[in-house]
Amino acid sequence: MEPKNILLEMKDYIIEMGAETINWCMQCGLCTNLCPWRLVPGQTSEEFNIRYMQRLGQMGIEGFEDENMLFACSTCGMCQNNCPRGVKIIDNVRAMRASIVGGGMAPSGLRPILGSCHANGNPWSGPRENRTKWQEGLDIAQFGPDTEYFLFVCCHSCYDPRSMKIARSIAQLLQKGGVSFGVIGVEENCCGESMRKVGDEELFQKLAGANIELFNAKGVKKIITTSPHCLWSFKNDYAKLGAEWEVLHYTEVLGKLVAEGKIAPSVKSDKKVSFHDPCYLGRHSDIYDAPRGLLNAIPGIEVRELGRSGESSLCCAGGGGRIWAEVPMGERFGELRVLDAVATGAEVLATSCPYCVNMLTDACASLGKQDALEIRELSELLVDSL
Ligand code: SF4
Ligand code: SF4
Repeated sequence: MEPKNILLEMKDYIIEMGAETINWCMQCGLCTNLCPWRLVPGQTSEEFNIRYMQRLGQMGIEGFEDENMLFACSTCGMCQNNCPRGVKIIDNVRAMRASIVGGGMAPSGLRPILGSCHANGNPWSGPRENRTKWQEGLDIAQFGPDTEYFLFVCCHSCYDPRSMKIARSIAQLLQKGGVSFGVIGVEENCCGESMRKVGDEELFQKLAGANIELFNAKGVKKIITTSPHCLWSFKNDYAKLGAEWEVLHYTEVLGKLVAEGKIAPSVKSDKKVSFHDPCYLGRHSDIYDAPRGLLNAIPGIEVRELGRSGESSLCCAGGGGRIWAEVPMGERFGELRVLDAVATGAEVLATSCPYCVNMLTDACASLGKQDALEIRELSELLVDSL
């Protein structure tokens, strides 16, 4: 086949995989200027340039050589939310990645993660039976026909010891508020949000298909997620596959409990706290008030807004599969975010996403700021206050 025709076929494939708006891009470059990669010292436009990536897509990814560029986007949504042509930039990135990963050329660093999801249903190479380890010492009910909510715990909080504390705090708060909820546990699979974002469409379909079958068989109607990534995936990717559940992030449920007086934080705190909006809770799901309402419910806390917050929140760099990327010190968005918090005089940087907690904790350590700034999940601060 003529090389030109191969490129045309590739472009058709990318469009079929979701890059339906690739031709809307007029190459204005606003996206590149808003991208957090622009803030990383020493980055040049050759290293990561989202405008150029859209052009590559328009040309059937002609000239694609550098997998680092294709897989560098953290899908934070900053560019997409501001594109004057309404280009669905993240779908385009995902589709381009799918054309590479679907051809068996996933970046080497991602292969063990994807392999573990195929084999174990989680990216942590963790045995299925350990999915419930976070529950040790707690009395968590199994989801059943009389349970109102199914609590879906992110794989990160099932397997990572630091993150398990987040799942434990959320479950304790829900219990305290008298919410009828239960877990399914070992039969669950990863929601697959990050796997789809890195372009492994086949794996995502496998995980999502199994979850939809399982949740429906158990009679699930309402889901509470611990992570904004699972929230987004269930509400968007899964909805397109026919799932019809009501899906809420835990901050929304707790916000209601606090408003109704079913949870009353009472232990005073004298901390100065900044809140980092996770991209998948804020920009992608439009949830800004619920976490702030919870923070403000803790007596004594002094909330100090970060300079870049709400819709302009700076990404921690954990989305789009970047949570698994090896990024040299000095090139981590999380480090910039930690410095944002230090600049407000905050003693605690709170957030409400397991990926953000992970990325910000690493960034804080790499900057040597652990003594000045604590990284906490909002649910943990609330438990401390009860
Ligand atoms: S994707 Fe949107 S913001 Fe970026 S270059 Fe194209 S039109 Fe401009
Ligand atoms: S989604 Fe975020 S990281 Fe990706 S290109 Fe857009 S602004 Fe940059």
